[in-house]
This record gives sequence, structure tokens and C-alpha cells, in this order.
Amino acid sequence: MILDPEKLVISMRSLSRGMNSGSFIIPLDKINWDIDGAEPADDEATLELSVDYGDSIVLCSGRLNADFKTPCARCLEPMLFNICEAIHREYTWEFDPSGEQEREIVPQSGELCILDAVREAILLSIPGKPLCSPDCDGICYN
Ligand SMILES: [Zn+2]
Repeated sequence: MILDPEKLVISMRSLSRGMNSGSFIIPLDKINWDIDGAEPADDEATLELSVDYGDSIVLCSGRLNADFKTPCARCLEPMLFNICEAIHREYTWEFDPSGEQEREIVPQSGELCILDAVREAILLSIPGKPLCSPDCDGICYN
């Protein structure tokens, strides 16, 4: 399986039928994450990916093992959090005119971009009320 680590694009041509899996080093600092309130805490991370290439569905799942940071809700100092959500996307070959399925269509270019799926996993992992420590006193104005 071939993945462009800076664009998070999988080349369909590099996949074999059935299960494909791989582990990739991702240069977190080179990717345009465009996530409000969170950014990578390291330059690099590992992406574990498996793609099940079936006749009607291409199932893509994985996990980005990375720390991101977001401002503490009280003192605004960066707090680290780990990506705990899995990456998941389903693709299909043909458009369903009934509009009942929510799967994306495999692009004609044969390039599957999973950046949105990874971004989603990061967004879902941002703590609801991030605190740098449980007893953070917040910003001191003295
Ligand atoms: Zn704090």
C-alpha cells in the first residue's frame, strides 16, 4: 500500500484485493490540519492503516498515534491529548441514486484522500473541557 504521507492520499493502484495494511510515518508539521483550537504536539507520528478492498466497498480504517495540544480551558496553557478515536471511512464504486447510502465514491483518479477522516478522529478526541491539570487555578491577574 502506497500512501502520500504529506497529503494522506492512498493510491488505489497500490492496493491488492482484500486486506491491505501498513504503518506510515506522518510528518504532522507538513499537513494543513485546519483544526480550530488544536495542533500537533510533535513533528511526526505513526499512522496504522488497513484497507479492505472489496467488490462493492472499500473499507478504510486506522489509527493515528499522536499527541495534539489544545489550550487549557482555564489558563490557556497548552495541554496535550492523545488521538483516541479510530479513523474510519467507507467508499463505494458507484453512486446510489436512491441517496440512501452515505458512502463516498472512489475518485476516478484512483486516489483516496483520508485527510478528512483523520481530521475527524482528531476533532472527536479533543477533550470537552481541556485542563492542563485537574486543579488548574486559571489565569492569575495579580
Ligand atoms: Zn490550566
